[in-house]
Amino acid sequence: VGDRADYDSETKSICPFCGVGCQINLKVKDGKIKYVEGINGPANEGRLCVKGRFGFDYIHHEHRLTKPLIRREDAPAKGLNVDPGNWQEYFREASWDEALDLAASRLKGRGREVAGFGSAKCTNEEAYLFQKLIRQAFRHNNVDHCTRLCHASSVSALIENVGSGAVTATFNEIENADVAIIIGANPVENHPVAATYFKQFTKRGGKLIVMDPRGQGMKRFATHMLQFRPGADVSMLNAIMHTIVEEKLYDQQYIDAYTENWEAEKAHLADFSPEKMEGICGIPAETLREVARTFAGAKSAMIFWGMGVSQHIHGTDNSRCLISLALMCGQVGRPGAGLHPLRGQNNVQGASDAGLIPMFLPDYQSVTDDGVRRAFTEVWESEDFSAEKGLTVTEIMDAVHDGDIKAMYILGENPAMSDPDVDHARDALAKLDTLVVQDIFLTETANYADIILPASAFAEKSGTVTNTNRQVQLARPAVPPVGDAREDWRITTELANRLGLGWSYDSPADVFAEMKRNMRSLDNITWERLENEGAVTYPSLSPTDPGQAIVFGDGFPRPEGRARFTPASVIAPDDVPDEEYPMILTTGRQLEHWHTGSMTRRSKVLDAVEPEANCSLHPSTLRKLGVEPGGHVRLTTKRGSISIMARADRAVAPDMVFLPFAYVEAAANILTNPAIDPYGKIPEFKFSAVKVEADTQS
Ligand code: SF4
Repeated sequence: VGDRADYDSETKSICPFCGVGCQINLKVKDGKIKYVEGINGPANEGRLCVKGRFGFDYIHHEHRLTKPLIRREDAPAKGLNVDPGNWQEYFREASWDEALDLAASRLKGRGREVAGFGSAKCTNEEAYLFQKLIRQAFRHNNVDHCTRLCHASSVSALIENVGSGAVTATFNEIENADVAIIIGANPVENHPVAATYFKQFTKRGGKLIVMDPRGQGMKRFATHMLQFRPGADVSMLNAIMHTIVEEKLYDQQYIDAYTENWEAEKAHLADFSPEKMEGICGIPAETLREVARTFAGAKSAMIFWGMGVSQHIHGTDNSRCLISLALMCGQVGRPGAGLHPLRGQNNVQGASDAGLIPMFLPDYQSVTDDGVRRAFTEVWESEDFSAEKGLTVTEIMDAVHDGDIKAMYILGENPAMSDPDVDHARDALAKLDTLVVQDIFLTETANYADIILPASAFAEKSGTVTNTNRQVQLARPAVPPVGDAREDWRITTELANRLGLGWSYDSPADVFAEMKRNMRSLDNITWERLENEGAVTYPSLSPTDPGQAIVFGDGFPRPEGRARFTPASVIAPDDVPDEEYPMILTTGRQLEHWHTGSMTRRSKVLDAVEPEANCSLHPSTLRKLGVEPGGHVRLTTKRGSISIMARADRAVAPDMVFLPFAYVEAAANILTNPAIDPYGKIPEFKFSAVKVEADTQS
């Protein structure tokens, strides 16, 4: 991995993997990145995890796309059949002009027949341009990205109840807390540098309550480990809040000053005694009461959550409960207090802020508001577009099947791996008459493309990214794009101009300046400041304010400045176990692999540590099946079936299977359920009924 002293140049940038947003130094020798070290960013203070430290060599991988490609007229039928190292039977190389002209000619003037998926892996400027292109060129809002698959339900509940979709306090604020809850998140694997702060918190005596159906890395640091039944979050959280009400442990002064709808919440909780709920959530009533007293008795307490909370058909209700719990105890807006959904992708916060979502323009300004649309079209010097909320990721795929959407522009997303019931998504991609894919590799989605535009990796371009802490940080180029690949903002601009939009950006800084005109969250944050300071947290109250780590100390951006209690009822998961499918399947990430694996499986170190598709089962389950650890099992749901190597893991309950989703050869999403939460429209990745059998054929 290189000699740390032997390099030609070094460049400060931001790790491209998770939402922690660690700052890094990229050391380059002979045009290649040889070594990465952590530097003193506000979120990482020099720390890095294995992905940030060793996961960079995919940038120089032989599979990188270096020239535009156009599907051959005599190519075999579209399907998941292209070898990324040997694509010549399917595609031919083209010049940029030919590829962009063809893309524009096949998309232009088609209005609602076209939809777009942007990417949380791109910069804020690139996300902004992508949503602008769809809205300006096609006059509708059918544009979305992977936030729909991770925290859309959290954002929906946060906007509804506290008036903002971002965290109320940085994760680093845990150093001022005395109690913290981590629920449905596995930071040791998924936010490893944040996990180091959580561990330090427990070392100095902080009480950590971990709630997770699966045992996990933070368990041994926890004062309370609540391994509740999958899908029973609302009954467990309502029981905890019931105790706080019953024992009058709530903060009446805070509730009176800063909230609304308390009486309705209180009345609703009356039905959820711990004694009644213990049979549903699997946690003894006395433990639920003890946790309630611990949280309510804290001087300062924080709540962190992840996709175990959000990826359910009741994901919004789960988040509503967490918000209510914090509000009733007055645990928002003070040092060491707050709500923090741990964001997944490196720039999912920023891409959402930049309007890469079908119901909101930048800064979560509603597309249904005529004044909001007017403010944007004035800046864009363009005509009005639809006031109707657009379709979300899974709804767009359904619309393709229905024949309403016939063409797509997909930038940096991989729905052929990431969508639930992925065969349905793959069939939809194959049905499109035009698919333009802009990416750094010939991904599974690019297998279905008609035109492929070679894009740039994070270390080949500049731009801003926003981490889970609301910290806007500057990524800088350490090496030029490989071959003829181009920066994404440039490709989107060139396509926009061929669609007749007349854009004239010379740099990401130009785009950022335009974003600031209608995004109050970026007030007092300038490109120059970011170049000098590296990071500024929003909101920043003055040109010298580094930004507010904690928000809502004096009220909320809602009517009368009051946050809202929204009661949540128990809704069963959509696909419950039965005789044929008696176990529960849950999916997630592993420390070494990132999402659909397109980057980390091309990183030598990471792939060497985790080279093979695997699932985890309790040892007793494996024994019952007669399968040795390392043997194969067949997993079957109502959507499909895969064969996969099984590991023994005591952290997984005997009636559960944990399945990482990074492996195309045993794609987890062949099995997952596309049923969605009605508010956040997020699929229920965390719960499917599954049959598990020994697979003696493999
Ligand atoms: Fe990168 Fe996240 Fe690891 Fe930091 S914690 S190095 S941002 S993957």
